[in-house]
Amino acid sequence: MKRAILYFFAFVFICFLLPAMLTKTNDKEMEEVSVSEERNEEENMEEVDNDYQYLKYGAIKLLHSKTGEVEEVPIDDYLMNVVSAEMPADFELEALKAQAVVARTYTIYKTLNKKHDNADICDDSTCCQAWISKEDRFAKWEEKKRESNWQKISDAVNQTKGKVITYANQPINAFFHSNSGGITETPVNVWGGGNYPYLQTVQTDRRRGV
Ligand SMILES: [Zn+2]
Repeated sequence: MKRAILYFFAFVFICFLLPAMLTKTNDKEMEEVSVSEERNEEENMEEVDNDYQYLKYGAIKLLHSKTGEVEEVPIDDYLMNVVSAEMPADFELEALKAQAVVARTYTIYKTLNKKHDNADICDDSTCCQAWISKEDRFAKWEEKKRESNWQKISDAVNQTKGKVITYANQPINAFFHSNSGGITETPVNVWGGGNYPYLQTVQTDRRRGV
């Protein structure tokens, strides 16, 4: 339970509080960070910059890395398999919702910045993002918890439908991690490459009195 709460705070902090803090302290250099919601499809299409159109990505092409098969699947269906692969179903619903938003954002980022020629994203966590079939997931859950666990994950995805994290009106490269030593590192110091203005070092352990 304690671990679940830590996970939850880490996700919320990274996904929502961090961008909000950066925007507040650096208004002139950074554009507003916002979470977009699909309230009205047509209205939203007009509001959002043409470079990013969520509805365009209603279905994604998923590469199954073991078989090489490419499957076209509605994005929210795909996200249920991702969330169930990335986070235990007994975590708090709000933590699962945060994971769903991050996974959706990451997925759309990948469709815009493809690694694979014939697919938007693959099911290998070391390459793109973890994915597990419903059948395999069910096999790993106690029988009596299967339906309720799946329902909870479905709720997390459905209750965040259309929500992604954006920076400068574009979906961010939403990296996520399962553990934090109390402070995050900027990606450029880990992998090199470009700097992400929305991913900077922050303290994530609230117990230390941020
Ligand atoms: Zn991949």
